[in-house]
Amino acid sequence: MAVRCPHIDRPQADARGPTTTLEGVGTTDPRDHGQSPDPDATRGDPPPAVPPAGRRVNRRAVVFGGLAAAGLTAATAFAADELLTGGTVRHDAGHAAGMAGPRPSVPPRRTAPPASWTEAPLRSSRTPLFDLRELAPPAPPAAVALTIDDGPHPVYTPMMLDLLAENGVKATFSVIGSQVRTYPKLVARIAAGGHQISNHSQTHPSPFAAIGRDRIRREIIEAKERIENAAGYSPRFFRSPGGDWNRYIFELCRSEGMMPIAWNIDPRDWSRPGTPHIRRAMLAAKAGDVLLCHDGGGDRRQTIEALRTVLPALKKRGLTFVAL
Ligand SMILES: [Zn+2]
Repeated sequence: MAVRCPHIDRPQADARGPTTTLEGVGTTDPRDHGQSPDPDATRGDPPPAVPPAGRRVNRRAVVFGGLAAAGLTAATAFAADELLTGGTVRHDAGHAAGMAGPRPSVPPRRTAPPASWTEAPLRSSRTPLFDLRELAPPAPPAAVALTIDDGPHPVYTPMMLDLLAENGVKATFSVIGSQVRTYPKLVARIAAGGHQISNHSQTHPSPFAAIGRDRIRREIIEAKERIENAAGYSPRFFRSPGGDWNRYIFELCRSEGMMPIAWNIDPRDWSRPGTPHIRRAMLAAKAGDVLLCHDGGGDRRQTIEALRTVLPALKKRGLTFVAL
């Protein structure tokens, strides 16, 4: 049972559905899934673009502090081509490099940076976080959060960081542990730039909630340790690959001190729908929204080009980009 990653393919309107349910938020990022190192994934046989009926279930979800009930959806879609041609880690490489490597031994040297608007630890009234208005302490009234997933990537992460710096924007990077291991300096650069870093699993398997508790734990803990080694602090946020959640993932996030985060603006940039499409989708952002895009998983030039105009346009509208 799971909630899909935001990157899956559901109409964005769904993501803004009733706040009492998580149903519809899941729109997983196939690109996301394109990176899945799951050896069981059928490479030449892309999963369905919509959740299998049998997997789409409403269920009560455990909420931090027992605050909510949620209907969760699971599903996955692959971009198999990304798997083979994308600039980021390949499944095999991710597995070998990420899961089989020696365990990090360097303890975190410092704590994760506080959210850009408060020194107090963030809490959310729901699990996972879909909208900044669910946060306490509250985000600034005109705040939006840009989240950037599946890096670090040797080409697109530096381009993204340059673009963010040019626009004075702080963001939250959801990084994959195996990539972190390969490109630790990029993670250090992200951290040095004042951006937040979120755990996005070690090898990005999908559907994430279906891989079993032992592997879920390994994926989350390994990535946490990789990030600690590269960034010098423990991540305080977790974004499940494909937006695929279940009760155990929530429990693990809580025990590891991480807030589960989702999104509510999804331009589906992983599918390379064209720069105008990405731009239009992101320009629909309003105060409180959590925007999703990617710097890893394949060719992200469309994403970069779209953000080049979207970032200044949203700022001109009065919105403020915050790091979680
Ligand atoms: Zn992802």
